[in-house]
Amino acid sequence: PRTPLIAGNWKMNLDHLQAVAFVQKLHWTLKDAKHEDGSVEVAVFPPFTDLRTVQTLLDADKIPFALGAQDLSAHDSGAYTGEVSGAFLAKLDNRYVIIGHSERRQYHAESDEVVAAKVKAALRHGLIPVICVGETSEDLEKFGASAVPVAQLTAALAGVKADAEIVVAYEPVWAIGSGQAATPQQAQDVCATLRGVIAEKLGADAAAKTRVLYGGSVKAANIASFMREPDVDGALVGGASLVVDEFAAIIRYQK
Ligand code: 13P
Repeated sequence: PRTPLIAGNWKMNLDHLQAVAFVQKLHWTLKDAKHEDGSVEVAVFPPFTDLRTVQTLLDADKIPFALGAQDLSAHDSGAYTGEVSGAFLAKLDNRYVIIGHSERRQYHAESDEVVAAKVKAALRHGLIPVICVGETSEDLEKFGASAVPVAQLTAALAGVKADAEIVVAYEPVWAIGSGQAATPQQAQDVCATLRGVIAEKLGADAAAKTRVLYGGSVKAANIASFMREPDVDGALVGGASLVVDEFAAIIRYQK
């Protein structure tokens, strides 16, 4: 019942001109692929400066990719130099916004409280937050795989209503950009545990509906092994989402 979501987090790559070329190429490469019939949802997360351009392209060429931003402000407007409001993102037809990516937690000191405030800001503006959680290799050694992601998700869901649409992405920090993905079993275990957190905080209905993604060194060669797991509903892809043929092959995964 959950539509798989294959999401490409471009991080700080591709300017707005490169974005146009990339999205057009990806669309043509995917012609007649299953995302066209809605059995897989594809989303791209370009830098802020690309969003208007990509929105215009998706709209003009009727390209069925969802659009998302990589971050947003916890505030709606005002004296917050350099920040981008969820209201602005919603006006550009963004459907999603990534919140609490480990690179924001690490390089911008985003706390669980900030993440929770941003989740609420996204929902206020009708955006679907893609809430990222994941443990470092030190956390893994000290506490095992689930403890930190569970604590992060629990904090992020504070004040979220049961009927809110959210996406959760489990991204072990040690697997991001390392070429060393989690095993499908590791991903399944933590994703199932996180679904349990959703059930506890938002109820059984929400747990059954919410997509829980895996992220961290996903590529064409391993996507199917993750998608075979019952609690993995898609992938948040970094590096491999920047290569047209590789990302297209991920989208075309066969279980
Ligand atoms: P990689 O796919 O490059 O490991 O990055 C994962 C990620 O951080 C997606 O948000």
